[in-house]
Amino acid sequence: MTTDLSLPILEAELRQQLDDLTLPAAPWVEPRTVDGQAVLDVLIVGAGMCGLSASAALRFLGIDRQRIVDRAPQGQEGPWVTYARMETLRSPKSLTGPALDIPALTFRAWHRARFGEAAWAAVDKIPRTMWMDYLRWYRHALDIPVENGVALLGLEPQAGGLVCARLSGPGGEERVLARHVVLANGRDGLGGKFIPANVQRLPQALWAHTSDDIDFAALRGKAVAVIGAGASAMDNAATALENGAARVDLFIRRADIPRINKLTGVSNPGLVHGYQELEEAWKLRVMHYSLDSGPPPPRASVLRVSRHPNAFFHLDSPLLTLEPADGQVRIVTPKGEYRADLLIAATGFSVDLAQRPELATIAPHIRRWIDRPGCEPGESRHAEALGELPDLGPGFEFQNKGPLPLPGLDHVHCFNYAAALSHGKVSGDVPAVSVGAKRLALAIAGTLFREDIVVQYARMEAYDKAELAGDEWTDADAPADAPAADNSSTATGARPA
Ligand SMILES: Cc1cc2nc3c(=O)[nH]c(=O)nc-3n(C[C@H](O)[C@H](O)[C@H](O)COP(=O)(O)OP(=O)(O)OC[C@H]3O[C@@H](n4cnc5c(N)ncnc54)[C@H](O)[C@@H]3O)c2cc1C
Repeated sequence: MTTDLSLPILEAELRQQLDDLTLPAAPWVEPRTVDGQAVLDVLIVGAGMCGLSASAALRFLGIDRQRIVDRAPQGQEGPWVTYARMETLRSPKSLTGPALDIPALTFRAWHRARFGEAAWAAVDKIPRTMWMDYLRWYRHALDIPVENGVALLGLEPQAGGLVCARLSGPGGEERVLARHVVLANGRDGLGGKFIPANVQRLPQALWAHTSDDIDFAALRGKAVAVIGAGASAMDNAATALENGAARVDLFIRRADIPRINKLTGVSNPGLVHGYQELEEAWKLRVMHYSLDSGPPPPRASVLRVSRHPNAFFHLDSPLLTLEPADGQVRIVTPKGEYRADLLIAATGFSVDLAQRPELATIAPHIRRWIDRPGCEPGESRHAEALGELPDLGPGFEFQNKGPLPLPGLDHVHCFNYAAALSHGKVSGDVPAVSVGAKRLALAIAGTLFREDIVVQYARMEAYDKAELAGDEWTDADAPADAPAADNSSTATGARPA
């Protein structure tokens, strides 16, 4: 039963907890204008989990001259109610996600407020759409001023630590100036769908990617093929089966479905906080191993498929031939030949800057791992993908690749999946997103302060609020007939008795 009425009580509790922690800090960043135009402290692109938590973490540090934009309609940000097709999140319900260490901001507190303690105890995994409901509440409760329907079209970093961003929204196009831009633009934020070449060659009507808007109802009675063995492969296969597909064949290149979630399984505060400090070779080794092991699909997702007698798992089955045949796809693997009315590529996303026109100006300057002197991404089949990831600085900032640096590039921060090799998994998945958001916000606060040191120093010089009046003591060595101390100061403290 829904008891939304208790959410205002939770929101009052949240306000109290923030107040107890003296959050948010008072604004302290010096306002700037350029040619009469106000400059933002931060522009955040994307209002999914990463964008929202980054906005909140920055505001907690007193950085509130910010805008946060998302091209999606309100409440539709990210994958949760658009193309994600799992029944529940894979993450355990106990994770505190974007709560930034504030108890009343956790999913658990929100769930308890809505449904009661008994219902929380009964939750196994978090239902997918409920997670989106929680994120919508998070935004509301923290009053995060997201502007929906506003897209980033382009970025032009400038000298003097400024970035000009071209935005397009309901009111048309505008150019804004920001001291920092945070790209919280999602799993595919530096690229797009990864589509194998043999799939791309098929007529468009015969295939789809898992992130596409697929008309599953139209697949009733049809044969569906799915490439991949990850979570999305299972979710899409299950959705097709539940919509009455005649059969679903899953083609899996590996000889076995990965069973052990290595990196997530061993995660602990040491890994979350210490990964970033590792040497290059260790970072590569950890990420290679994790990718090569392959995160398994959740057990419940596999069972959601295998409970259908018309689901067929084909292991050790790379696609040798993929071609159109009589309005279907003809698929040949080492094990046999198959036909499908639709092939769904559950092949994930790639980092491929060429797929993001809004990053075209900065793309040639971004240093990737492969550009690091002496970097050897290794031999595994993931080496190329790892080499394409940006080599980020300690605040998720891009670094310049070449001898002719693009000024201001280091004021653009990559707070999305692509940061994983540099920072670990703190900028995409639920478990450690608060760690990432705080790391980002602290780094931006530090840079803003450092760059404003002249102003901040002048503020210190101008500060004149006395804490002592000068009448709290007497100089034991002063001559007895010396004039009395001048007590006309503005000190706030009372003279001790
Ligand atoms: C299908 C699926 C299931 C997942 N399940 C889990 C899970 O169970 N547990 C877990 O920990 N992680 C999961 N993840 C991984 C991760 O948690 C999600 O990808 C999550 O959405 C990441 O949050 P985000 O804020 O980085 O990106 P998103 O939620 O994708 O938000 C990015 C936002 O940026 C906006 N945007 C992009 N480009 C622009 C632009 N040019 N201008 C303006 N706005 C823009 C988009 O509209 C989008 O709303 C899943 C991912 C997927 C794809």
